[in-house]
Amino acid sequence: MEDDYNYEEDDELALLDAEGDEAFSPEELSPNDQNNPWREVAIRAENEKQFLEQEVYKLQKEVRRLTTELNKLKAPPLITGNIIDILTDGRVVVKSSTGPNFLVYVASFVNRDKLEVGTRVSLNRDSLAVIGILPKSKDPIVSGAEVIEKPTISFDDIGGLEEQIVEIKEMVELPLVKPELFEKVGIDPPSGVLLVGAPGTGKTMLAQAVARSTNATFIRLVGSELIQKYIGEGGRLVRELFQLAKEKAPSIIFIDELDAVAAKRLDTATSADREVQRTLMQLLSELDGFNSRGNVRIIGASNRPDILDEALKRPGRFDRIITVPLPNAEMRSDIFKIHAAKMSLAKDVNLENIVQKTDGLSGAQIKAICTEAGMFAIRSESEQVTQLNFTMALEKVINFQETDQTASGVMFV
Ligand code: ATP
Repeated sequence: MEDDYNYEEDDELALLDAEGDEAFSPEELSPNDQNNPWREVAIRAENEKQFLEQEVYKLQKEVRRLTTELNKLKAPPLITGNIIDILTDGRVVVKSSTGPNFLVYVASFVNRDKLEVGTRVSLNRDSLAVIGILPKSKDPIVSGAEVIEKPTISFDDIGGLEEQIVEIKEMVELPLVKPELFEKVGIDPPSGVLLVGAPGTGKTMLAQAVARSTNATFIRLVGSELIQKYIGEGGRLVRELFQLAKEKAPSIIFIDELDAVAAKRLDTATSADREVQRTLMQLLSELDGFNSRGNVRIIGASNRPDILDEALKRPGRFDRIITVPLPNAEMRSDIFKIHAAKMSLAKDVNLENIVQKTDGLSGAQIKAICTEAGMFAIRSESEQVTQLNFTMALEKVINFQETDQTASGVMFV
């Protein structure tokens, strides 16, 4: 039926008689009229009309969207700046992001009560008047630092480091939880604590666990991330890191791989070395200007304490050192028990037997053995991990370590 119908021709016929006069009034063409001989045509026309109206509506919407988008692209860029002084006559001095300072007016729609020294604002490109208040800037690296508001690792998850746990509790937990003790005795608690030991021995875990036990926010940054390409950038990051810690207080700053930024300073330095040294200087000055009874604690970690700058270890800075050793047999047994606790073990599993064969391995490697053993069990479609799975996992981890050492030429002792 649809194929036979020629809309234009038939529609002409529908409306005009042989003399060309109108044959039907619009009412007669109504699709609701049962007697209308052209009812079907009228229904089609009505449907088509509705369809076209919808199309027009959609296209108008698209035009509106594109016009807004175009306006955004055409809008002139705004300049950003920081307020450095507020005058009584209503004007402010801003340091623009392009460099110079300007004395400018503030637009009437900007809430002046929210303006204070240091506020980041947007400026009109021509008059440089303040036309908006921007949120505080945080460098992506600092805001990208691992910030854990509620750490989940507890001291119970750490195997074999009882002595280190007692030490870190004394040095970090006490000043946060009972600062009055230090006040009464009249001494300052240690400012910074340095954890030294081979990779994967549980240094990060210790710092996280103490943050959890004190309900502190845990902020972790790797030292190498503080090394920046441009002069002054590293120092600014350190400042922002400490600022972030104060905002999130009580908090614990954990700087991993401290040696990347705090290696001994040499006389013959390149400009890149000098930038690293400037970052270190900023770190030292932040440590010095720090209230050690405050609710921000600092923990550093390093695998190479021998190359750390002496200035960093001076009293009042990272003056307490906790050595985290590679685990002995007893410690390894504890670590195995922690990681195997949630595993479904077959009856033949003798963990002590595996422990004896893991001399020289770190806690992280022991965890890797447990994970690998589980993977072998899954591969063999078994729901229980067997002794054979553990033996194969041990072999795999040891082989990996040996290839890794040959490749890097480094031995972890
Ligand atoms: P790196 O110096 O490379 O940063 P690290 O000393 O900070 O290493 P962690 O990140 O604390 O090491 O540990 C890595 C993983 O190893 C942990 O997630 C944990 O599963 C395991 N592990 C290490 N030591 C222990 C331990 N003493 N008890 C239980 N698990 C441990």
